[in-house]
Amino acid sequence: MLSVRDAETTIFNLTQPLQHPQDTEIVDLLSVNRILATPITSQLDFPHWDNSAMDGYAVRYADVESANHEQPVILEIVEEIPAGYQPQSTIQSGQAARIFTGAVMPKGADTVVMQEETHRDHNHIQILSAPKNQEFVRHRGSYYQAGNQLLPAGIRLNAPEIAVLAAAQCVKISVYRKPKVAILSTGNELVRPNQSLQPGQIVDSNQYALAALVHQMGAEPLVIGIVPDDKQALQQAIADSITTADIVLSSGGVSVGEYDYVEQIITSLQGTIHIRAVAMKPGKPLTFATFDQDERNILYFGLPGNPVSALVTFWRFVQPAIAKFSGLVDAWQPQFINATTTQELRSAGKRETYVWGRLSLVDGVYQFQLAGGSHSSGNLINLAQTNALAVIPVGEKVITAGNAVKVLKIGN
Ligand code: AMP
Ligand code: MG
Repeated sequence: MLSVRDAETTIFNLTQPLQHPQDTEIVDLLSVNRILATPITSQLDFPHWDNSAMDGYAVRYADVESANHEQPVILEIVEEIPAGYQPQSTIQSGQAARIFTGAVMPKGADTVVMQEETHRDHNHIQILSAPKNQEFVRHRGSYYQAGNQLLPAGIRLNAPEIAVLAAAQCVKISVYRKPKVAILSTGNELVRPNQSLQPGQIVDSNQYALAALVHQMGAEPLVIGIVPDDKQALQQAIADSITTADIVLSSGGVSVGEYDYVEQIITSLQGTIHIRAVAMKPGKPLTFATFDQDERNILYFGLPGNPVSALVTFWRFVQPAIAKFSGLVDAWQPQFINATTTQELRSAGKRETYVWGRLSLVDGVYQFQLAGGSHSSGNLINLAQTNALAVIPVGEKVITAGNAVKVLKIGN
């Protein structure tokens, strides 16, 4: 049985990211959560021109450097410059221009005096205190100089990046296509949420949870549905999935029971099984395989059927693999946080153990609060409203309250 660390290395090494240019598409600005495929460079400086950071008066510093309340400097106002207007005059010694935030600085002026430090009298302005040299001027190119890289490839486009693209007038953006992730649930006992439950039947919750997670990541879930524990039906569903998807997630059918056919079918479809079990709890029966399909490398995750096991293995292995596959250059690896547990955490000690709860920042310290109720892999009820998994390493049976614990964030 592989350690979690070895399983992670195997999976991430076999995950090859989407490629530029063949795996890219052009999208418009409002395409949030996509991964940029090419670096962005602008021919514009930011700011585009010297402009005022305040409503006030554009002046020559040399004129006003001695101004104070007792001896104000009086200047003649020769122009009014609102935002969006090209100044017409050159400010001479003894002159000022009325200027507003964002408006272009007139020639000759080098400093802005904020309105609050002035007193206006018709077309003259009293400067009541000396500004600093060049105060309140945003200089052309001081934020970004044309020709440099504005955004690198391989980053996720969220609101700040979209704002930058808009400002740089990039309206057609090259991004990686969305990874296609097929999701299928195996088991004769499974029914859809809208079907009436017969004795012994279980609602297929995994499909919905996995589809939600895939969607949240900016990938495209292909929901295959429920496949019975029937070799032929399962073989057909997996064969179809590997021809249409980049990544296949099945849940169930990977344990050692009589009806657990997934491994046999992977082998009969020429897949290569790399992982059959991982020393973790929950999640031990995780299966990982690859298929060489028309020169594409398809990743196959056979997740355990138990609802918590399916999700824990998703967060621990599948989520970073999808993120890496998507073209993200950094920030795809799982992020662990050092926290303090508020309750005692227990493990049998043999496998790396994951328990769920809430992570919060209390007085600058991350605290992990264990979810109440059973931490059985079949109990999904107390998984609701959690946002983190705490990790109890192999060999440790207890982490007492107040001690340090490593935590994987799974939500907000
Ligand atoms: P298996 O790995 O197929 O032996 O399934 C282990 C347990 O998980 C069984 O109790 C199943 O009923 C349950 N299970 C399997 N698939 C799902 C699913 N899609 N949604 C909810 N529970 C499931
Ligand atoms: Mg089953």
